[in-house]
Amino acid sequence: MYKSLQAKLKTQLTEIKEAGLYKTERIITTPQGADIATEEGGEVINFCANNYLGLSSHPKVIQAAKKAIDTHGYGLSSVRFICGTQNIHKELERKLSEYLGTEDTILYAAAFDANGGVFEPLFDKEDAIISDALNHASIIDGVRLCKAQRYRYLHNDMADLEKQLIAAQAQRNRVIVTDGSFSMDGTIAQLDKIVALADKYDASVMIDECHSSGFLGKTGRGTHEHCGVVGKIEIITGTLGKALGGASGGFTSGKKEIIDMLRQKSRPYLFSNTLAPSIVGASIAVLDMVTDSTELRDKLEHNTMHFRQKMTEAGFDITPGVHPIVPIMLYDANVAQEMATKMLDEGVYVVGFYFPVVPKGKARIRVQLSAAHEQHHLDKAIAAFVKVGKEMGVI
Ligand SMILES: *Cc1c(COP(=O)(O)O)cnc(C)c1O
Repeated sequence: MYKSLQAKLKTQLTEIKEAGLYKTERIITTPQGADIATEEGGEVINFCANNYLGLSSHPKVIQAAKKAIDTHGYGLSSVRFICGTQNIHKELERKLSEYLGTEDTILYAAAFDANGGVFEPLFDKEDAIISDALNHASIIDGVRLCKAQRYRYLHNDMADLEKQLIAAQAQRNRVIVTDGSFSMDGTIAQLDKIVALADKYDASVMIDECHSSGFLGKTGRGTHEHCGVVGKIEIITGTLGKALGGASGGFTSGKKEIIDMLRQKSRPYLFSNTLAPSIVGASIAVLDMVTDSTELRDKLEHNTMHFRQKMTEAGFDITPGVHPIVPIMLYDANVAQEMATKMLDEGVYVVGFYFPVVPKGKARIRVQLSAAHEQHHLDKAIAAFVKVGKEMGVI
């Protein structure tokens, strides 16, 4: 009895293709890194991974993953509360809390699950969730699963946040929720101002640190360090799948009662398998590396500022900032697509973003810098952008 559903899906898929919105996936045949090979584009240098610290294929990380398989096995075949908690899971939670400057941490299979499972156990219809309009899809889904009253403030707009906080004073408890860094523009949330508003209007603060943990701030702790508010954030969610190793896994970190309640009631934690020992072992090694030395985040910062400066000097329209996400604004969707294709021909893998991923008329190429990039990678990418940009009349 698939006929009617099949017909509907075929029609919708055709519509998606005709609108130019059909997503295809490029096939990589090597480990993730600065130099990769793809089935379609051959050998290219990679500027579109979340591999901010270059740890995705780092020898020390791979070694730690292998060692954890030897000492703790391949998998636990259990959720945490039945028989899925090993000593290394507790060690990783402790190390994350120390790193982030929080009281306790709970692991999830992904940050998507951390965000999906954080609201419902903590807030109900008496409470208010006040969310930045551009927050990540997983935050939006998590809020949907919760009965709290929903308020939305204009992206990064502190005056509007204040208005929403005033409107939410009738509720029992309030939480302000924001991405620490926003993935399309590299914008960093104004956490110092947000914390001040939270104090004034009696609210808690939650930040999603997926594009921040490991490299933002002087020692890489994240947006709260960057903005000088370590210890003043009640809830931090984050991923082990970007800067902090790049495999998978997520966490929620914060006040101990909050984490305790999540262990009792958070559904993606209670009803989903524990994190694999190899990932846990590798993540512990990553945290040791980023705690012992700021070398990688310093190199990332250097690469970021160099790339931003050279591209701006070349005449590209780059949203100013300090984040390794660098949006090269092209405004027109076709221009963004064509430029990404031409860059691949030059051996540089970057991706064009356009509606509906970003607003209409705000098409761009998003470049992501990494500590894995050496000077010759940066030189090659900048030269290719200048060549293609001139060819296309963009600069
Ligand atoms: C990538 C990302 C997530 C999801 O992280 P996973 O661990 O891959 O599920 C959640 N929030 C933000 C802001 C992200 O960028």
